[in-house]
Amino acid sequence: MAISRRDFLSGAAVTLGAVSLRTPMWALAAQNAAASPVPLLLGVDYYPDQTPDSLWEEDARMMADFGITNVRVAEFAWALMEPSEGKFDFAWLQRSIEILQRHKIAVILGTPSAAPPPWLTAKYPEVVMVNAQDLPLHPGGRRFTCPSNKTYRRLSLAVATQMAQTFADASGVIGWQIDNEFTLSDTPRCFCNFCRAGFQDWLREKYGSLEKLNQDWGTVFWSQKYTDFSQIPVPLLSGGDPNPGLALDYDRYQSYANVSFMEEQLTMLRQKCPRQFITTNNVGLVDYINERDLYAKLDFVAFDNYPGFFKMLMEEQPNPEGSSWNAILTMVAMGHDFGRSLKAGKPFMIMEEQSGKAGQRTFSPQPEKGHLRLWTYQAVAHGAMGVNYFRWDTATFGAEEYWHGILNHDRSPSPGFEEIRQTIKELKALGRDVLESQYVAEAAVVFDYDSSWALPIQPGHPKLSYLPQVVKWYGTLSPSQTGIDISVPGADLSPYKIVVAPLPYVMSDAQAQKIRDFVHNGGTFVAGFRLGAKNEFSQIVRTPLPGLLRDVMGVTVEDYVPLYSEKPGVKLSGFSGAPDGTCGLWAEVLKPSTAQVLATYTNFQHAGKPAITRNSFGKGKAIYIGPDLDPMSLARVLRTLAASAGVQAPMEVPLGVEMTIRQAGGKRWMFLMNHKSDAQTVKLATPGTDLLTGKARSGEIELSGYGVQVLQMS
Ligand SMILES: [Zn+2]
Repeated sequence: MAISRRDFLSGAAVTLGAVSLRTPMWALAAQNAAASPVPLLLGVDYYPDQTPDSLWEEDARMMADFGITNVRVAEFAWALMEPSEGKFDFAWLQRSIEILQRHKIAVILGTPSAAPPPWLTAKYPEVVMVNAQDLPLHPGGRRFTCPSNKTYRRLSLAVATQMAQTFADASGVIGWQIDNEFTLSDTPRCFCNFCRAGFQDWLREKYGSLEKLNQDWGTVFWSQKYTDFSQIPVPLLSGGDPNPGLALDYDRYQSYANVSFMEEQLTMLRQKCPRQFITTNNVGLVDYINERDLYAKLDFVAFDNYPGFFKMLMEEQPNPEGSSWNAILTMVAMGHDFGRSLKAGKPFMIMEEQSGKAGQRTFSPQPEKGHLRLWTYQAVAHGAMGVNYFRWDTATFGAEEYWHGILNHDRSPSPGFEEIRQTIKELKALGRDVLESQYVAEAAVVFDYDSSWALPIQPGHPKLSYLPQVVKWYGTLSPSQTGIDISVPGADLSPYKIVVAPLPYVMSDAQAQKIRDFVHNGGTFVAGFRLGAKNEFSQIVRTPLPGLLRDVMGVTVEDYVPLYSEKPGVKLSGFSGAPDGTCGLWAEVLKPSTAQVLATYTNFQHAGKPAITRNSFGKGKAIYIGPDLDPMSLARVLRTLAASAGVQAPMEVPLGVEMTIRQAGGKRWMFLMNHKSDAQTVKLATPGTDLLTGKARSGEIELSGYGVQVLQMS
């Protein structure tokens, strides 16, 4: 883990599984190893490589007493596993695994390619990345190697292959994590000559001919017409902005390069280790990699969850309106929903869950009493099938020596020790049914990698960025207590009553067709400003905006306006009782053809002109939200539209209480989680049974500060 991308939330501050019903083989293996009655992995990230071997037995005994089922090990231990090129030493790891196995603790092995040993970079200095300023990175940190470099790929595959041959049949080894946190670095993309050659090959494959590439990028501009693929540059400093088509394709290529790097190890592991699961761990929406592609061939999604960072990021915002509990609730819930949605509702695992103060140079506060339990339940409430806490003990050396674990530096219990132990005990008693149930979502928020990569190339407004808009839309919709999936283009929209798409800047023919079919068949589609402004080659469409979806939306965009000192008002006449809203960074003036006007601009050069419209198309509705609305108004608008689409919360809960529903086989479970420090009262609409106590509950129930209730509903 590393704190970086500190600016990814910038601007968002103001806003604030379909389980396979059969238990897979690896899960049975985990249960056997850990004698666990539940299909839930509850573990820690453990570093025998960083711990004197005299303590391994004590660690394993303490972990077994603590109640965990598994550990993840070895993902940063390349230097010990291959002390010199081609000389492998796994004896220490075998000894450690044998000790863990004696204590019925299963093992997930990490392949070590996120941090190469010094002998490797000394012998092959060309494997380091080159950053966007054309400067090479240096060994000494991590994630400083090129994803395209064939030498680095060969050496990464070699050590992983030796691991696989050694541990494919090792008792207690249940699965693999490939590498660690792809692209999560201060330098997420590489611009070296190997990447340039890889990019050219990738373009050859994608476009087939230079004629097509020149046409689709529009290289006649600034005399950039290529006559040989080898002439095509990477988007380094060039005296002016790069071609937008080239720049977007380069982001796609870098994602592809990382995914294909991962898949080289995956192909080998599939062949050598058929009994063991294979995944990787990323941090979801903040990574520079298409995670739908990344996890496509992996067994399940795993990712890392550090809620404390959101609190730190909120503190850095100039005028945060949202309180930190709300930011943490929103960002964590969205991360979980994203992880679950990447494989269409399949349960996910938290490979690293915050267990104490977390960070490197600076670190988050110690989670308050109740936070660690709350965050664990929040993961399960959103569909997790496993939670591993980072980390077992706290290192006394290295860049992460302030990344606090379950044991303190002196190996005494951390402030969160007892709370995590108790939480693990509770979860084991929760029962199989609820853990194998499906998360219920009737709404989806679209997250589109193409739009997220194309927008920063030409944001239009210096403060406009993609992810904060998605956070804002998710955050304003989620308090309506409806389950939300995060939909990536290509995903099936038919399960949803309403699909909302903030800043849908890039629109391919295929995406447009999916949306058209969804609305035609009765769905409600809500689009934010910049809908369909660009095609998939990052060219501006030649038709009036919103381009391919003009007939579905029933409007034409008359003008799009970045806003600086001017702050137009928005009269929400179509939303009963709503006070006027205001615009933030952007306003689009709409001209309806068949759509009905729901809101108009005030106090603006375009005063009186339509700002929000609703169109009937087929059996469904299509709503265009032209302005960058203030969060309160956006919440009012989105929740009204969700209700009109038939999305209904099972009951009302107070602000700060999160509710999710999971269901299976005619049974329903309700998770109620209080994200505020003071107690709150919830009035149950229907009676239920408290899964932790077995007691019947009805009427009003009290949730303590950071309290959780899991109810089986009658
Ligand atoms: Zn490179």
